[in-house]
Amino acid sequence: MQSTYHKLVKELEDSSTTLVAVSKTKTVEDIRTIYDQGQRIFGENRVQELVEKEAKLPKDIEWHMIGQLQTNKVKFIAPFVSLIHSIGSIKLLKEVDKQAKRYDRSIPVLLQMKIAAEETKAGFDEVELTELCKAGLEDSYPNVEFVGMMGMATFTNDQEQIRNEFSQLSRVYTSLKKEFLPSFQILSMGMSGDYQLAIEEGSNMVRIGSLLFGSR
Ligand SMILES: *Cc1c(COP(=O)(O)O)cnc(C)c1O
Repeated sequence: MQSTYHKLVKELEDSSTTLVAVSKTKTVEDIRTIYDQGQRIFGENRVQELVEKEAKLPKDIEWHMIGQLQTNKVKFIAPFVSLIHSIGSIKLLKEVDKQAKRYDRSIPVLLQMKIAAEETKAGFDEVELTELCKAGLEDSYPNVEFVGMMGMATFTNDQEQIRNEFSQLSRVYTSLKKEFLPSFQILSMGMSGDYQLAIEEGSNMVRIGSLLFGSR
């Protein structure tokens, strides 16, 4: 019998979409199970959990920070994090740049754009992103690698609304890549409930938790 993991991987392969297995709240044994089936990219949304799991699991795992990140906690993940999806403020960007330099590395990041209607969801808006890019992101933050964008759709059953939000992010991603940041290669959008829609709208990286690990 094919596992859920393998079915999903097969499905994503057809569209060359990268899978981030979102393992927040799951145990290191749960992560091992998926690791043993071949998965190497895992995403967490809390710094402490991420640091603890990183210490206990194989070193060839690429750890992605996907959740809201407090400035004072960047230093804990700076030595090893492979990608930060959730850069939603200048303050955070400055700190990531500073910590990357301290650890003598560059840290790849995604700029998070607020596309959802909910006030709780973080990120820049389109105007802020354009201003940032015009000011010269790469020169201002030399230890940060700007590799793409991330966004989360509104938590709703309205498929048209979700599609419109993804489409908006996809449009901004394409335009910033063309005009300012040819280094962009990752568009991270889509979770368990909406990843197919996200891929249809241009996503090439999905962050999937409950579909893989069961509900939290
Ligand atoms: C939890 C989480 C996910 C995964 O959500 P599922 O619905 O369990 O797939 C994706 N992205 C972010 C930012 C998350 O916090």
